Parts: sequence; structure tokens; C-alpha cells
Amino acid sequence: MRLRNVTGSREVIAESRFVVHDPAAQKGKWSGVFGNNRPIHIEIGMGKGRFMMDLAAANPNINYIGIEKYSTVLLRAVQKMETQELANLRLIRMDAEEICEVFDKGEVAKIYLNFSDPWPKDRHAKRRLPSRQFLARYHEILAADGRIEFKTDNVDLFDFALEEVEPAGWKIEAMTRDLHHDEKMFVGNIMTEYEEKFSSMGNPICKYIIYR
Ligand code: SAM
Repeated sequence: MRLRNVTGSREVIAESRFVVHDPAAQKGKWSGVFGNNRPIHIEIGMGKGRFMMDLAAANPNINYIGIEKYSTVLLRAVQKMETQELANLRLIRMDAEEICEVFDKGEVAKIYLNFSDPWPKDRHAKRRLPSRQFLARYHEILAADGRIEFKTDNVDLFDFALEEVEPAGWKIEAMTRDLHHDEKMFVGNIMTEYEEKFSSMGNPICKYIIYR
């Protein structure tokens, strides 16, 4: 998802109080940003932010951070935040490859990956957010009892993600290839923008929860 030619998106983001502008300076100090010691849950590849905003509204006792690579996309989330202020949600514009520069060991309690870009060419596999290269980064920042939750409608990406779990030292806690018809895993499901679009087209949604 890349929205092109959105005039001034970088400027709007630079002025937004919802965006953390120097995230590496907060490494190990994120509780200070929120003013409390509540658990921190992050979404990597947040897109326009609906999932993060709905979760933050539903769970005021959890601190959320949405991470998005492109300012033109992040702008949409910033604009939504202007209409619904949430004290427990912050946004970061960054490439997730640098995630270990931004969070300290064990500082994050949960990581959400939703409808991650598939990068279909084999030579780009390490750019996929559920790849073993990224799992190694998540291992650094996630608490010992932390979980990663991954959703996608892309069966090839889901198969790839499942194959990465064990070699990267993780274990599957739960998984489904049809989330919206899985009685147990669908409980409390919050839809993302992509999930709404693809499930309304009839695509089954795959999901796993992993831990180590
Ligand atoms: N999670 C949202 C949803 O489910 O509606 C958006 C899904 S969209 C297909 C994937 C998003 O991940 C895009 O906005 C893209 O810019 C972002 N993204 C991809 N690679 C990223 C990376 N390395 N770091 C941060 N964001 C990334």
C-alpha cells in the first residue's frame, strides 16, 4: 500500500504530536513516553492505522505503537488520530529493519503483523516481515513470554511464514487457515483495513500465534 504524491505528508507528520520523531532516543524508555509501565504492543506495517486505533480504544491498559515505513501511508493514520485522541497510542515512521535500534531487549510484550507485503520473488524473501531474519529481530525486542500474531489472506506468504517458525527457534501456539470461521481464534478479532477488503471478497484469512 503506497499512496503517491500526497503533498506535504512529511511536513504534517513532522508536526504531529502523535508521532514519535526520534524513536531510537526512546530505546529502553518507552514507559516514559506513555507515562506508565503498562505493556507495549506494536504493529509492524500498520498501514492506515485502523487496527491499532480500535485496539487502543478497546484496551486502555495497554500501550500501542504503530510502525509504518511510508510517510504517505502514515499520514492517513495521523489524520485519523486527529479525529479520535487516544492517550495509549503512538506512531513511528521507520523501516522495521531498524527495530532493534528502537526497542530494548524484552521491551515489547506483543507484535502484530497484519497483511504484510508478500515480496513474491525468492531473492526478496528476507524482506518479508515473518521471515527468519525478521523473527531474529523480534526475538531481541520481545519479552520472554511475548507472542507474535500474524494474519494474511496470502496462502503462499502464510505457508512461507509457517516454514520459518521452527528454524528460527519459535513454536506455534495456535493457527488457522480460516480465521473468520474458527470459533476459538475468531473471538475478539479486530479487523484491519486489508482484512475487511479481502474477507469481503471471500478470501479466507490465515492466522498464527507464535512464541518461543
Ligand atoms: N496492516 C495493514 C492492514 O492489514 O490493513 C496494512 C497492510 S499493507 C499490505 C502493508 C504495510 O506494511 C504497508 O503500509 C507497508 O508500507 C508496510 N511495510 C512494509 N514493509 C515494512 C517495513 N519493513 N517496515 C515498516 N512498514 C512496512
